[in-house]
Amino acid sequence: MSLKQPGDGKTQELYAQTGKTWGRDRDVSLGNVALSSTLLFGTPFVVLYFWMSCTHYECSLYAPIKYIKDHDYTAAAVKEALIDKHPRHSLDAAKIYFAWVTFQALLYAVLPGKIGYGQQTPAGHILPYKVNGLLAWTISHILFLAGAFYFGWWDASIIHDQWGPLLVVANLYGYFLTFFVFLKAYTFPTHPEDRKFSGHMLYDLMMGIELNPRIGKLWDFKLFHNGRPGIIAWTLINLSFAAAQYNKIGYVTNSMILLNILHATYVLDFFYNEDWYLRTIDIAHDHFGYYLAWGDTVWLPYMYTLQSHYLVRNPVDLSIPHFLLVAAVGFTGYYIFRAVNNQKDIVRRKKGKCEIWGKPATYIPTKYVTSDGKSHTSILITSGFWGWSRHFNYVGDLLISLAMCLTCGFRDLLPYFYIIYMFILLVHRVYRDDTRCRGKYGKYWDEYCRIVPYKVFPGIW
Ligand code: NDP
Repeated sequence: MSLKQPGDGKTQELYAQTGKTWGRDRDVSLGNVALSSTLLFGTPFVVLYFWMSCTHYECSLYAPIKYIKDHDYTAAAVKEALIDKHPRHSLDAAKIYFAWVTFQALLYAVLPGKIGYGQQTPAGHILPYKVNGLLAWTISHILFLAGAFYFGWWDASIIHDQWGPLLVVANLYGYFLTFFVFLKAYTFPTHPEDRKFSGHMLYDLMMGIELNPRIGKLWDFKLFHNGRPGIIAWTLINLSFAAAQYNKIGYVTNSMILLNILHATYVLDFFYNEDWYLRTIDIAHDHFGYYLAWGDTVWLPYMYTLQSHYLVRNPVDLSIPHFLLVAAVGFTGYYIFRAVNNQKDIVRRKKGKCEIWGKPATYIPTKYVTSDGKSHTSILITSGFWGWSRHFNYVGDLLISLAMCLTCGFRDLLPYFYIIYMFILLVHRVYRDDTRCRGKYGKYWDEYCRIVPYKVFPGIW
């Protein structure tokens, strides 16, 4: 069967009417534009507020508000509680930051690595990627630890010590990157036919225009910024916060150690399976705008490490049962996360000719069309975890995230931001992905949803 438009039935009619392709945005409402603008200019203040709460109020989210309330909401109180507490810029932080990004960019460019391939883009490209993240992670960590403990070039707590000034420079870089890729999309796009224009500048700034902006054939903005300065930094930030905790109380708490292990497991898994990551929504479907550019440079390093920041300000010694319970939740989550993602990767790579849980894999053969008019085939797996729900991998992620938060005990809300945020992010993704997959696969996606009716939690939703 050859399809003239992606999908069938209603979806096909929609595309026929609008001339748009799956993976491109459909009509962007004014609500979408308003939300994009709010996020575009509001999210730095969210990060700032969390940083400030941790740095100046022992990680209490309520304390700054209480201060203002106790001082009758005067302008002077607002100034004292919030404005005067903003992070200061520093030349040292700027040097550290740019040395870090440049160093990572060089590692990405020069280190050897196998070539992995992404998912077919809506315009029909299958792009090569240099997969050398694990080596970059290893070199970065050896250098950081050797610099701190062998050569004495810096204190291991350096990242913690510069956390405020680094926030200033990370924001500057995040916005610079956002505007740079926005202009690049107009002036020298890498794959012009894989751009997405919504007709609203603020929305395009937020969600990105180019799908895969690149310099040269292999230096990919999205893989680099998603993976390298942000995710490699994640474990270094944790180590530095552990060192700061040691400097403060003379030892490293078991909660901090467990948190470091959980985060490191997640990060190392990411780099060990970097080839797999090329075919996830982040790389395969999201365009590169503020959402990923600023998200990778500010949101990820600052908001994903809130628990380690919390544990410096509020050291927690976990009881052995609490420690074991958190570890069990975390590693169960990790097992689910990895097993579900592996199932999809293996079955897709073997084109369905393999076994899942001792039985031949079951799947729906599908067809879809790229914007060059060519028809392609793929499969939607319906066995194993993918028969339980359409995103069972998200359950694993939520459990890992919960465990990371639970290392901080139950006194404050701030460390639980991560699980709340992950929940919202993943639920939103379920809907985004559903729209995109229905556009791409049409009646095959409807059939898949009929066979696998649950979105995430089997039997519930
Ligand atoms: P998925 O790995 O679920 O990928 C969804 C895509 O897979 C769909 O767009 C479709 O793409 C394909 N697909 C959907 N159903 C099937 C099926 N039955 N059989 C085969 N292919 C299918 O989602 P994500 O990329 O969002 O997540 C990947 C992992 O990353 C998850 O474990 C998630 O929890 C984690 N994650 C972590 C985040 C963090 O910040 N820590 C953020 C986001 C995700 P197509 O058919 O076009 O290939």
